Amino acid sequence: MSNFTFKGGLVLENPFPAKEIDLIRIPLPDRVVLPMQQRIGDQAKPCVSVGDHVLTGQVIATIDDDRCAPVHASISGTVVAIDNQVMAHQSGLEALCVTIESDGEDEWMDNSVACTENYDFCTPDTIYNKIRLSGIVGMGGAGFPTHTKVQFAEGCHTLIVNATECEPGIMCDDALMQAYPTKVIRGVEVLLHICGAEKAIIAIEDDKKESIELLRKFCKNERITIEAIPTKYTSGAEKILVKSLLGIEIPSGGYASDVGVLCQNVGTLVAIFDAVVENRPLISRVVTITGSAIKEPKNLQVRLGASYDYVLSFADIEQGENDIRMAGMMMGVDLEGTNYSISKNTNCIFVNKPIEKPSAQECIRCGMCNTVCPVELLPQQLYWYSKSSNIEKALDYNLLDCIECGCCSHVCPSNIPLVDYYQFAKALNKQQTKEKEQTDNARERFEFREFRLERNKQERAEMMEAKKKALKEKMAKDKAQKIAIAAAQERVNAAKTAKESEDAR
Ligand code: SF4
Ligand code: SF4
Repeated sequence: MSNFTFKGGLVLENPFPAKEIDLIRIPLPDRVVLPMQQRIGDQAKPCVSVGDHVLTGQVIATIDDDRCAPVHASISGTVVAIDNQVMAHQSGLEALCVTIESDGEDEWMDNSVACTENYDFCTPDTIYNKIRLSGIVGMGGAGFPTHTKVQFAEGCHTLIVNATECEPGIMCDDALMQAYPTKVIRGVEVLLHICGAEKAIIAIEDDKKESIELLRKFCKNERITIEAIPTKYTSGAEKILVKSLLGIEIPSGGYASDVGVLCQNVGTLVAIFDAVVENRPLISRVVTITGSAIKEPKNLQVRLGASYDYVLSFADIEQGENDIRMAGMMMGVDLEGTNYSISKNTNCIFVNKPIEKPSAQECIRCGMCNTVCPVELLPQQLYWYSKSSNIEKALDYNLLDCIECGCCSHVCPSNIPLVDYYQFAKALNKQQTKEKEQTDNARERFEFREFRLERNKQERAEMMEAKKKALKEKMAKDKAQKIAIAAAQERVNAAKTAKESEDAR
């Protein structure tokens, strides 16, 4: 058993283990549908038009700011549509996508800003820009633009490479490490070069023995260590990983960068290597296909934008109505059908035989949920306050620190969908905060208007007073002037009379 353990969590076995962790490169799809929206961040803006011919690796959507990443053509061919398509998300909402029909050539764009093997002669800024222009986002599922995350962590002391797989059943990181151990190490070296961290730790769950062995064999860099951590869900959650590896607690509401740590998923490191050294933007990823309806789970190297149906056609699926789930068993989302495409953060597709979900019962206050929470929250209390919409109390119990891992729901003997309640409470809190902001803004606007009216009134009164004073002064001046003129006139008249008298004599 390895060190680096943590309180709570669950030891969950992979319910669908594969015989081999191979990485299978599937043929190019005939058509790709590329979403402009990653999971987190803003939407990229298409810079191509319907009818344009594009090359593999060509930028088809650009970014205005750093809250999103550019999108590249994942095949060469013709842009046939730029329209809204349904996203693989529980909301069922649509988002803007660019559809390309393949010309079958896979002709690559020459993306000229290369760093090549000699990346250590490139300035960190050049490499940072290369990552930015290559459209790399967090490949672990969050989809946050990597260049922005690296920028936030400027001056960090440690780089942690999360190679733990988010959840049991997902094998894409393991497959990637076994296929490209040197790329992983080189990717870490590239990131060490630009983020300035003194050391890097690659954290791998201790059941991935081959990956651990391979990385240790190929790693010759003394600044990089490979650590085996317990195969225990949720060892891969950022806060837990930082605490168990370094003993550093990320404060409530904070991020790893707040404590001088940069965390990156192992897939992201390979994408960084491909971009910086091989000059290839992010146009493909590894996707695990697994589930109770899949005869043999597989890890497929897939071009982004390929349809779920195309990808699933490479798996041996049991006939009948099956349920589709994206990402993990614990934190993933159930989808309606398969009418979606692979995006930068699609790490796994589950195809499961339908099962009847047991109905929820009353809470029996057994406290089991409290013992498994990896963030050391009190899920039972959170449940009561979320259920009664007492958001203030739920916030007192650190609702916002809940990582929605589902450990509590998993062990609940009453089958209460606890995470659903927390998601509801978080949404309600968001709405209330927004409403409060709107009310505060309206009050501020009203108060400012009142202040402005009062100020105008005062200014007008002061102006009138000043006018009155000026008029008074003018009148006094005019009067004085008239008196002076009259006096002068009198003097002239007197002088004239005196002269006339003198002349008469
Ligand atoms: S595990 Fe379920 S039944 Fe037990 S205390 Fe928690 S919510 Fe209640
Ligand atoms: S879902 Fe939230 S409350 Fe439940 S165990 Fe995970 S972190 Fe704790």
